[in-house]
Amino acid sequence: MKTSPWKTQLRQSITSSADLCEKLPQLAARRPVLDEVTATYPIFINSYIASMLKKPGDPLWQQFVPDPLELEDTNGMEDPLAEDSCAPVPNITHRYPDRVLFLVSNRCAVHCRFCTRKRKIGRQFNMTPKTISQGIDYIRQNPQVRDVLLSGGDPLLLSTATLANILSRLRAIPHVEIIRIGSRVPGVLPARVNPHLARTLARFKPLYINTHFNHPDEVTPQARRACTLLADAGIPLGCQTVLLKGINDSGTIIRELMQALVSMRVRPYYLHHMDYTRGTAHFRTSLTTGLNIITGLRGHVSGLCIPHYVIDLPGGGGKVPLTPEFIQELDGETLLIKNFQGRVFRYDICPEDVQTFKDKAHYGSA
Ligand SMILES: *Cc1c(COP(=O)(O)O)cnc(C)c1O
Repeated sequence: MKTSPWKTQLRQSITSSADLCEKLPQLAARRPVLDEVTATYPIFINSYIASMLKKPGDPLWQQFVPDPLELEDTNGMEDPLAEDSCAPVPNITHRYPDRVLFLVSNRCAVHCRFCTRKRKIGRQFNMTPKTISQGIDYIRQNPQVRDVLLSGGDPLLLSTATLANILSRLRAIPHVEIIRIGSRVPGVLPARVNPHLARTLARFKPLYINTHFNHPDEVTPQARRACTLLADAGIPLGCQTVLLKGINDSGTIIRELMQALVSMRVRPYYLHHMDYTRGTAHFRTSLTTGLNIITGLRGHVSGLCIPHYVIDLPGGGGKVPLTPEFIQELDGETLLIKNFQGRVFRYDICPEDVQTFKDKAHYGSA
């Protein structure tokens, strides 16, 4: 049988700094330091992504080519979201009452240099058929879990048969209502999304896929085709974007990306502020940058194009949305509210609301 194109793209991946310097000769002089970086944080770039790497500073280059700055950040945390310490069984994080995060794959199609699971990816990642069974047992024994979020690694790098096996065991649990898959595959290894995969996933509805696109350059004809196949199979698609310094930290780029996503039936879900993950400090923006980007979207583009801007609290506090403040002032029983154009309108409220808004510490000024 002919090998699938996506398997060939994975087999032809860059997996060492030697491979990298061969493919991108302009890096050859930096080989010793790249050896050091990749010894700590392994490199993996499949040939689809490698073919799109053009020059340093490009959005894809910055996301996937190792950088000596990774070794300079020693303040960051190994496990900023306390995923491992909150795990009742290996690879399950049960942070919210009705849903769990379940890591089922130890591989990705490409290693993102800003990964929040940098501690695991390509390194120590204990993910075996045994941990999968333990995870499924945990979910079966906890009837409050109605929503299971599969992640990794990238679940879509499992074989279709393995994935179907995990999904059918989860579907056999009556209290599991919703299954979600977090995957960067539609954008970084789109050939993996073939009709057979789409048909297989469609057997396990309601099943949602949250993709991960960070820059309009990732929205290629191949990525569009992958998202179309999934959407046509009846799988709702969302997107979790990470706000990355020097890559997408501008209103124009985020707007273009969000509009491109909606045009291929991918609904923006979260815009993640960078976690305090060790080795990623050079990717972190200010919160002001993120809030300004959201302000620039609201009202100017459809609400469909606006993700929730969230921080994930270090230590396992979970995700919290940050929203720009549109309320300017409380004037008796009237709020002064600024619209997207900066014009201020009066909005009358009831006595109960006066209490609510009086207690707020302060209102935005900008
Ligand atoms: C993000 C996350 C979820 C899912 O959160 P939603 O807001 O429901 O998308 C669940 N568990 C953990 C540990 C998470 O980090």
